[in-house]
Amino acid sequence: MRDKRVFIGDLTRKEFREMIENGTIKATIVPTAATEQHLEHLEMIHDTASVTYMAHQAALTLYPSVVVATPIPIGVSEHWMAHKGTLTVRKEVFTEYVYDVCDALKRGGVKTILILNGHGGNVRPMMERMEEYRQKLGINVRFNSYWDVYPPEVVYRYMEAGSLPGHADEFETSMALALFPERVHAGDMEQESTAKLGTVEKGQGLIQPAVDGVVDILKKMIAGVEVDLEPRSFGPTGARSMVRDAMIQKR
Ligand SMILES: [Zn+2]
Repeated sequence: MRDKRVFIGDLTRKEFREMIENGTIKATIVPTAATEQHLEHLEMIHDTASVTYMAHQAALTLYPSVVVATPIPIGVSEHWMAHKGTLTVRKEVFTEYVYDVCDALKRGGVKTILILNGHGGNVRPMMERMEEYRQKLGINVRFNSYWDVYPPEVVYRYMEAGSLPGHADEFETSMALALFPERVHAGDMEQESTAKLGTVEKGQGLIQPAVDGVVDILKKMIAGVEVDLEPRSFGPTGARSMVRDAMIQKR
């Protein structure tokens, strides 16, 4: 038997129309990610595969009130273009593309959208535009990466090096080992890399808190409750606001 269908692309237009018209669909997730180098040992689709997993699980948890748009698999990765195989689009193209997808959903009757991100390079470009997009769309739309939802104590329980999300490092290697071990090419891992700290157990420990956190955001958005969760990353000295970091770098 097929799984419950939560991806919009797996629904017929009749099914989607009826679910919108009878009020079944309360929110939509738009996954955004990347196809970019992930050091020597992780496959380049990592960010897309992991955020799609989180979106899928969150939608299954809230079935049938949440559906998932087709993931956007190429993001802003200009900073990795020295590594052949990385795909990138200009930030203005990326942000406008995401906006257009949200606008199409709105025109289809969707009133609540969570843009769920899985690639750090997309954060700043999207944050620069979100206020404008929110006003133009006139619906309940917000942007978060799936790691924003982690309580700091969960991060520091599992991450020995104390960093998250990092890049193809302890966190992403652990997630890949737990979610899609066939995408981890352990023999190509660099000797000195802290990616070596990645384990299946750490990944398994971090999956459910991410899904739960995304579900919590969606529940709050559906209930019309304010979500106070800004984009952030975790370092050895604690959680950092990615918005504040961006402002400091601009000065
Ligand atoms: Zn990544």
